[in-house]
Amino acid sequence: MSAQPLEPEFQQAHDEVVSSLRDSTLFQVAPKYEKVLPIIAVPERIIQFRVTWENDKGEQEVAPGFRVQYNSAKGPYKGGLRFHPTVNLSILKFLGFEQIFKNALTGLDMGGGKGGLCVDLKGRSDKEIRRICYAFMRELSRHIGPDTDVPAGDIGVGGREVGYLFGAYRAYQNRWEGVLTGKGLNWGGSLIRPEATGYGVIYFAEAMIEYATKGQESFKGKRVTISGSGNVAQYAALKVIELGGTVVSLSDSKGCVIFEDGVTAEQVTAIQEAKIRFKSLEQILGEYSVFSGSKTKYLTGERPWTHVGKVDIALPCATENEVSGAEAEHLVKAGVKFVAEGSNMGCTQEAVHTFENTRKAASSHDTVWYVGGKASNLGGVLVSGLEMAQNSQRLTWTREDVDKELKRGMINCFHDSLAAAKKYSDESNTSTLPSLVKGANLASFIKVADA
Ligand code: GLU
Repeated sequence: MSAQPLEPEFQQAHDEVVSSLRDSTLFQVAPKYEKVLPIIAVPERIIQFRVTWENDKGEQEVAPGFRVQYNSAKGPYKGGLRFHPTVNLSILKFLGFEQIFKNALTGLDMGGGKGGLCVDLKGRSDKEIRRICYAFMRELSRHIGPDTDVPAGDIGVGGREVGYLFGAYRAYQNRWEGVLTGKGLNWGGSLIRPEATGYGVIYFAEAMIEYATKGQESFKGKRVTISGSGNVAQYAALKVIELGGTVVSLSDSKGCVIFEDGVTAEQVTAIQEAKIRFKSLEQILGEYSVFSGSKTKYLTGERPWTHVGKVDIALPCATENEVSGAEAEHLVKAGVKFVAEGSNMGCTQEAVHTFENTRKAASSHDTVWYVGGKASNLGGVLVSGLEMAQNSQRLTWTREDVDKELKRGMINCFHDSLAAAKKYSDESNTSTLPSLVKGANLASFIKVADA
C-alpha cells in the first residue's frame, strides 16, 4: 500500500498522477510502464528525527523533523525544506512525490525529495532561528551530501535559514560542498536563484499564451490575479509588471489585498523587505508610505479569486489547495483564460476539473489553459540544478546566462508537456485542446520510469 491511513494530501497528489496516466493511452501503447506505478509510489527512505533547542526564554523546545528521500532514479534526492506548523508526513510525501516528476521535467538529472520541521518561526528572534537551524542540521547532516541529497528552501526557509543550515552543515561535517541550494551569492549561490520560481512561472505562462494565441498576445495589457506574497508571488508579480501586465491582487494567510490600479514594483519591493520581518500585508499597507494614496482594498480572511473583477490570468502562488471548485468557476466567469500554479498543487481537484472541462468548450474563446505546479513552478529547482553544476565547476555563471537557461528550460517544459499530451491522448484527433496536466504527468513519468 502506498499511503498510510490519513495521508490526504499525499493520496490526492498520487491519485492525480495515476488517474491522468490511466486516462491516457500510455499503458496500452507500452504496458511495461504500468508496472512502475506501485514502485514509484513508495519513498526509498523516510528519516524522522527529534529537533530540540533552547528558545529565547531559556526553555527547551522540541519539534519533529523529517526528510523524505523519495526517488533517486535520476540523480541525488533534490527538494526543499519546509518549516511550518502544518508540516507532517502526508504533506511531505505529497511534496516529495510531486518533486520527483517536477525535477525530471527540468531536463536535469535530479531525483526527488522533501523535508521539513513542524514549527512556527513567526515572532522568533534571528538568534533563535539560528539555533533551530543548527539543531535541525545536527541530525540531517548525516543523511545528505552533494551526490546523495541536496535540500533547498521552501515555505519558511529562505536565504537566511539556508545560510544558518549551511553553516551548521560545515560545522558538523567539516566540509565545504554544494550540499544546499539557494545559498548566498558570496558563498556558492547562483544568480537568479531567488527570482527563479516566480520568473519561471511567468516564462511558462508566456509560452502558453504565445502558443494559444498564435503569437498574437502576451502579458502586455493583461489583468493578473496572484495569491501569496512570499518569494514566488513577489518575483512573479515583478516579472508581470516588467512585461506590461497589471497585478490586481496579493495575499497572505490572514487575508488579501486588491489593487484596483495594479500593484507597483516599488510596492512589491516594500513587501519583500517587510516580509523578512514577518509583517502581515495588513500591517505593511498601514505602515509603508508607498501605499498611501493608492487604491487598495484589504479583505480579512479572504482569498483574492472572487474579489478581483474581470481578469485574464490567475497565478496561485501561496500554498496547496488554495483554489476551490467554486472559486475556479468564479474565475472562469470573470474571464480567466490562463492559470499557472506557482504553488504546489495550488488547485483542488474540483478546481482542476473546472478548468480542464473548459477544454471541451465549443469555441476556443471559452477555453482555459491550466497548468499544475509540477510544470509551471519548476524554475526554482531548475536553477537549483544550475547552482549544483556551478558548485561542481567552482564557477559562477552570469545573470544573463542563468536567466537564459531558466527561460529555455520553462519553454522546453511547456513543449514537452504539450507533445506528450498529444502523443498519448485519444483526444489528439479531435478539436479538444491537449491537457497540460496530463502532458506534464506523462512527460515526467516516462523520464523517471525509463531511468
Ligand atoms: N522548494 C522548491 C520547490 O518546491 C525548490 C526546491 C529546490 O530548489 O530544491 O520546487
